[in-house]
Amino acid sequence: MNERAPSKATARRSARFGAKGWYLAIAVIAGMLVLLTATALGRIATANSNESRRLAEQSVMVAIVSDQVRDLIVDAQSAQRGYLLTGEDTYLEFYRASTTRLPAAVDELVGLTAGDPRNGALVRELKALSSARVAEMTRDIELRRTQGPDASRELARASGLASMTRIRALDAELQDSTETKTAVQEAAAARSNTRAQQLSALGAALVFGLLVVMLFLLRQRGRAEQQHADHERERAELIDQLGHRANHDALTGLPNRRLLTDRVQQALARSARDNTLTALLYIDVDRFKDINDTHGHAVGDAVLAEIARHLQRQLRFTDTLARVGGDEFVALCEGLVSAREADGIAASLEDELAGGIEVLGDRLLVTVSVGIVVAEHDRLHGDPETGLITPEQLIDASDAAMYEAKDAGRGRRHYYSRKDARRRTDRSTLAADLGAALAKDELWVAYQPLVELDGARVVGVEALVRWDHPIRGAVPPATFIPVAEDAGLIIPVGTFVLQRACAQVGAWNTERAARNLPPLGLSVNCSAHQLLDTRFLDVLTAAARGGGLALDQLTLEITEGVMVDSVTGAADRLDEIAAIGVGLSLDDFGTGYSSLSYLSRFPIQLIKIDRSFVSGLGRSDTDEAIIGAVVSLADRLGRRVLAEGIETAEQAAHVARLGCQLGQGYLYGRPEPANALDALLTTGRKQLAH
Ligand code: C2E
Ligand code: MG
Ligand code: MG
Repeated sequence: MNERAPSKATARRSARFGAKGWYLAIAVIAGMLVLLTATALGRIATANSNESRRLAEQSVMVAIVSDQVRDLIVDAQSAQRGYLLTGEDTYLEFYRASTTRLPAAVDELVGLTAGDPRNGALVRELKALSSARVAEMTRDIELRRTQGPDASRELARASGLASMTRIRALDAELQDSTETKTAVQEAAAARSNTRAQQLSALGAALVFGLLVVMLFLLRQRGRAEQQHADHERERAELIDQLGHRANHDALTGLPNRRLLTDRVQQALARSARDNTLTALLYIDVDRFKDINDTHGHAVGDAVLAEIARHLQRQLRFTDTLARVGGDEFVALCEGLVSAREADGIAASLEDELAGGIEVLGDRLLVTVSVGIVVAEHDRLHGDPETGLITPEQLIDASDAAMYEAKDAGRGRRHYYSRKDARRRTDRSTLAADLGAALAKDELWVAYQPLVELDGARVVGVEALVRWDHPIRGAVPPATFIPVAEDAGLIIPVGTFVLQRACAQVGAWNTERAARNLPPLGLSVNCSAHQLLDTRFLDVLTAAARGGGLALDQLTLEITEGVMVDSVTGAADRLDEIAAIGVGLSLDDFGTGYSSLSYLSRFPIQLIKIDRSFVSGLGRSDTDEAIIGAVVSLADRLGRRVLAEGIETAEQAAHVARLGCQLGQGYLYGRPEPANALDALLTTGRKQLAH
């Protein structure tokens, strides 16, 4: 691509250059044509004027010689008459002289007019006349000498009169001829003028045509240049837009990861020069997927744009806020003098969002998890062992720190340490493996008994998903469930567990029914993502029906987060679930939030006290007090209480004493594959340890 770009430009330039050369050539040719036409016209005009001049000169000569001839004839006649009348020799001499000159003049006239055929007859007659005059004169002189002056006088009179008449006629004719000639000359001149005019008109038309063509070409060239300029501008704009698109996020207009990487690079260089610190804050919106799922993408987008606006408000002009993923932002803050400043920035970002954000008229509460990494020049701050760090590594480090913040509970911030990076790598490969695990049958369901503390009777089982990873071995659900939630895999995983467990418990219940044993209840853990799935109720009822399980034999275990988080709307689903008869229990009670108000608001039948309280019994009075308080609250609300993680008989006795009705724990049975529990659950024969 890079190599092709300049060659394209060169081609474009040479094309432009070629067009210019072409126009120049046309202009030169047109100019030459105009010049040639003008020269030709000039030549024609000159030739015409030369010819006219020649013709004019010739006609003047003809006229002169013709006059001369006439004069000579008249002279000869007068001399003849004078000689005949007087007989004087002077007349004779004059007579002879003009008669001798006459043939020469006639010859000259013939020579002059020979070119014009129309004068031929006239000239021939003149010639004949001049010879006749010479002969007449000779005879006259002879007559006078032999017969006397009277005889010659008579002849002279007759011939003189005749020749005079003829000469006059000839004169008139010659005059006519001269006029005709002039007319002819004028006509010729007019013709040549017309030709010249025609030629000049043609030349002018040619020049005009050429001018039009040139103007047209110039206009075309102008247009082509305009078009070219337009194309160039459009191209530049497109490149600009593409460049902007390539470096910015379309939704928020913020720089994207690519531009961020660039800016981090520059920031690191500056920090080395100024001896300052550079901080990256990786900001992830908590439970954003739920917002998207519940309210739709349009609201999700509006939420992101609004969050971006809020975050930007807390950053300095020189900081960069980038959007690097769906709900992930990175703030790049440079020029810090101490790492603690980064903490202050994170706090201000959290505070900014603490009041909630206004989206489409609604106020939503959002929290963010923030991962922080600080670089000193091009090394990690406070970690002298790290080698040089690239911008990408720095961004990855902040990302890993953010995951740790998320793991620690939402709305936290976490400073990067090197072990975060290892965990981060694990997470991404785990998500990829989990995607394939379902298809490869690596997931299975374990069941753990739920018992009535009074009598240790098994009343149900909890389904717990298991993953036998081909390389890693058994991966604990606490590790892969959050990964599944983040990777959007929790719905297929949850559906698989529901279907498998319903089928299993349905089968056990059929056996139990045959033995007149009461049916077992089934508890299945349920993630908020599943509740938000619009098809969840269908999945739920289909799974129960498929396994032959009554809906009231099924219980979903949800965590406190689902109910507290009013943003996601997952809690709204709880009523619908309760309405179809499916039970709800509150899992891991006491680990999440300290509010108890939701207990009365939602249709929870069972509270499962987290095993951390049970394990603390006997050592911590607080734990005992808390269990006691929860039990009395549940009593008042008409809820039942289950103690999780009962491992010893003492613990079992203790929680029973405190008022818990149900228990679960290794004491009664570990989570086990279905076949290991067949005997216990279908016959109830195996005695549970107590
Ligand atoms: P949980 O729902 O609270 O499940 C009980 C956990 O406590 C199980 O861990 C179980 O093995 C463990 N446990 C039970 N009795 C004892 C005991 O006496 N002592 C000790 N130390 N542990 C005991 P497990 O199977 O590792 O599951 C961990 C968590 O993973 C579950 O906690 C649940 O939140 C989640 N989980 C498991 N299966 C699923 C599932 O199918 N879907 C969802 N969404 N979450 C699941
Ligand atoms: Mg559970
Ligand atoms: Mg639990």
